Amino acid sequence: VHPTAVRRPYPIVVQSENTSYSDEYITSKFTNRGADVVTNNNGQFLITPTSKPYEFQTVRKVSKTGLMLIGMGGNNGSTLCATILANRHNISWHTKSGVQQPNYIGSLLRASTVRLGLDPAGKDVHVPVSDVLPMVHPNDLVLGGWDISGLTMDQAMTRAQVLDYDLQRQVAPHMAELGKPLPSIYYPDFIAANQEARADNVIPGTDKQVHLEHIRADIRKYKQENGLDRVVVFWTANTERYSEIIPGVNDTADNILAAIKASHFEVSPSTLFAVAAILEGEPFVNGAPQNTFVPGVIALAERHQSFIGGDDLKSGQTKLKSVLAEFLVNAGIKPLSIASYNHLGNNDGHNLSAEPQFKSKEISKSSVVDDMVAANALLFKPAEAGATKGTKAAKGEHPDHIVVIKYVPAVGDSKRAIDEYYSEIFCGGRSTINIFNECEDSLLATPLILDLTILTELLTRVKYRDASSSTEFAPLYPVLSLLSYMLKAPLVKPGTEVINSLNRQRNALEAFLKACIGLESNNDLLLETRIW
Ligand code: NAD
Repeated sequence: VHPTAVRRPYPIVVQSENTSYSDEYITSKFTNRGADVVTNNNGQFLITPTSKPYEFQTVRKVSKTGLMLIGMGGNNGSTLCATILANRHNISWHTKSGVQQPNYIGSLLRASTVRLGLDPAGKDVHVPVSDVLPMVHPNDLVLGGWDISGLTMDQAMTRAQVLDYDLQRQVAPHMAELGKPLPSIYYPDFIAANQEARADNVIPGTDKQVHLEHIRADIRKYKQENGLDRVVVFWTANTERYSEIIPGVNDTADNILAAIKASHFEVSPSTLFAVAAILEGEPFVNGAPQNTFVPGVIALAERHQSFIGGDDLKSGQTKLKSVLAEFLVNAGIKPLSIASYNHLGNNDGHNLSAEPQFKSKEISKSSVVDDMVAANALLFKPAEAGATKGTKAAKGEHPDHIVVIKYVPAVGDSKRAIDEYYSEIFCGGRSTINIFNECEDSLLATPLILDLTILTELLTRVKYRDASSSTEFAPLYPVLSLLSYMLKAPLVKPGTEVINSLNRQRNALEAFLKACIGLESNNDLLLETRIW
């Protein structure tokens, strides 16, 4: 049997009074340690270490999970379906360099590891991240979804021009079984005019309340027909323009519901899908940059305790930026400017060649270095409290940062990203790092969609309680910021800080997964190696 098809029993047993197992749950005790800092009049930092006990409870049985993709027939959607089917049916294919096996390379969950500790010989023991807690296997996801384009899934795969022909040829019959995506909501104002030609599979009418009910019924039917416990609804459709935030329209839960009833112009298709998922109690993840989660949608998710995550997949250039910018700033080097150019030739690039849709992407790509810059006041002058609004002093010092995206059909799905990092070094010196990054866009994005889906399903099975009081176990906060590693512009709990650093995002995820089995997070102190 091919390794990707193997289902291993849950392989971890933590032997500690902090961890207990029943048939139904893994329960763990965890102490959340931190520090409160106040600055006194002399500029001294007064630090009080804090610690608070919690318990986590994880349902052991993974849900039978459906993945409903919005934009199923696009490059990401069709590539995801075809590669899961290739893995599921163990299809290998010939390329000019030999025989290629299907795999899940690029998936943090299935192709990277965490360190558990030391074996008796003093060697590190690592396991796949997907072994830390029971998680859905990607091969088991039940695939479905919507697209405004009515091509069948095998035809959609051909149109995408992503996969090798020999794989396409073999997987086509399985793709054909997926049929045609469900008709979707199409409001031409939200995506580029150049997409109109493919919009031949749309739900008729203009009544947004009717459209909402239609999508809700689709989710319910899909869940019921496939005997699913859980449906993750995932936006991988074209990037929409930003929705304007209008008081009284999309600012509160009640207002957004009323705006849908009134078919208000500013309610986007992606927002309708998010609201449908929330009202059905199923998680919704936004893989594109637009502001689907207007304040009213976040409030609605809170009200229904329904999970949401986003925005925009962090696949290539931005992923590297969230490593490199942190590396430079943490090395005490001062980036003066970061200039990022992209060109790509797939349908996403075609859509992004329209200004309002490019704007959404530009915003999503822009704030990625903010937290690293803000963490180092030695290099970057912080914002001055009393400074005039809009001035440099009021904003604080920041590297110049530009993002350019151009559509070049010839390169297809193979995106080119060119980045220049221009930095100040010791005593007035300058350093320039140039990076040219060429990658197959949909093959980077697909494993991220899988990770997001699988983590989201897992997080619906984790509950926590404050162990210092006798409160009941409760679900996590609805905005799943633990998904940030895979996302370009992570959505976080309102009022809390966005973490963009890829390292910190991964550490948080690893620490959380370990906390759920009663283990301390990674300890790179390795004291035993430093003492006699
Ligand atoms: P694509 O254009 O190939 O696919 C998008 C699909 O969405 C198309 O089939 C289109 O018909 C469909 N669509 C458009 N509006 C729809 C609607 N209202 N309802 C249902 N379907 C609709 O694009 P892609 O390369 O698959 O990328 C998908 C999204 O993911 C884009 O928004 C892109 O910006 C985002 N993204 C991609 C990457 C990557 O590396 N590939 C990274 C980050 C973000």
